[in-house]
Amino acid sequence: MPYDKKLNQFQIAQTNKYNVFRCIVREGPINRAAIAKRVDLSIPTVMAIVDDLFEKKVIRSIGKGEFGVGKQPEILAVDPDRFFYIGVDIGRSALRIVVNNLAGAETVSMKEPTGDPFPEKEFISHVKKLMLRFVKKLKIDPERILGAGFAMPGLIGKGTGKVIVAPDFGWKDIPLQDWLQAGVPYPVLVKNSTQALAVNESAVFGADEIHTTLCVNLGYGIGAAIITGEEVYEGTGGISGELGHCVVDRDGPLCKCGNSGCLEALSSGEAIARQAQTIIAHHARSKIAELCRGNAAGINAKMVFDAAESGDGPALKIVNSAAENIGIGLSMAVNILDPDRVLLCGGLMRSGPWFLDLIKASMEEHLTAKTDRGLVLQAGAMDEYSTAKGAARVLMNSLWSRRALPV
Ligand SMILES: [Zn+2]
Repeated sequence: MPYDKKLNQFQIAQTNKYNVFRCIVREGPINRAAIAKRVDLSIPTVMAIVDDLFEKKVIRSIGKGEFGVGKQPEILAVDPDRFFYIGVDIGRSALRIVVNNLAGAETVSMKEPTGDPFPEKEFISHVKKLMLRFVKKLKIDPERILGAGFAMPGLIGKGTGKVIVAPDFGWKDIPLQDWLQAGVPYPVLVKNSTQALAVNESAVFGADEIHTTLCVNLGYGIGAAIITGEEVYEGTGGISGELGHCVVDRDGPLCKCGNSGCLEALSSGEAIARQAQTIIAHHARSKIAELCRGNAAGINAKMVFDAAESGDGPALKIVNSAAENIGIGLSMAVNILDPDRVLLCGGLMRSGPWFLDLIKASMEEHLTAKTDRGLVLQAGAMDEYSTAKGAARVLMNSLWSRRALPV
């Protein structure tokens, strides 16, 4: 995210302070002269702001620099334990929470199974209770918590944090952000899970040389998010990136969304498992039957990938077809967006680099421009806390852009 530009007379002082503080948070340890250069302010202005930040105890001195002879400059860094912020990943099977300090380092994380998502209000209050209990256990003063970002799968209203629809949860029109906020003393923000994941993945892989990243989550469902710089491109209503619901085969199976032949209905983890169940039900000889020990209802995508890896014919057919369709979906997205980088994340990518190669081959075959456009296609970081970390980052980005930090 670029440093704020000087906007108008009233905002100058606050903007300058934010730029200096942000520079110390992002680029510290750093000395005053270097800050002045980075944020384009005079050294006396930076010195006055730094004095103020010292007074507020949000930064600290970590000694003198060693730059040759002469007077050594004082090196400044953010006080990492002054403020914390939280990221929560509301998953269908588990809740994951991370707590970061202001230096951006992950302090702690936890995972807890989530139960039945009904009634919605009770489920959400349980999620909130788990988060508050975890924070209490850490003995962090709530006044030191800047806020909590929540990642939720489904269509999330832009700016409202309302769940428009969450098919995996069976939810519709739930004021999630309002319900989570009630009784919580710091700001709460809700973002779509894939968008939160993409913010984190894009940051992990570095955004310096990259302008646009398409991050695709290939898991139980299929979602995508577009990151420009460090920000999510949300679209007009906040529902951009619904790659999973692009129709790649009009005659394909019915999707949860009501259309037929959506990418998700053909190539998600759920679809892969369902196709394997059908094969087993028709008594096809397959390694999958062995892996599920005859329990067709217990088949999951991992079993299908394991069988495919061992050379099992029916499993290979399913996986090849999934990769082909994902490649077609990606080619459509790349044709429209022309991104620098495509990151593939989610459970299906745990199958190994061979699945990535299959997807890449299909995508390249279906791309309009065959010239070397410098597009990078790679697997994501595959950290199970990526989405929770992304939710925390989204929250912090929002606080920075709204200048809502207590400095
Ligand atoms: Zn669909």
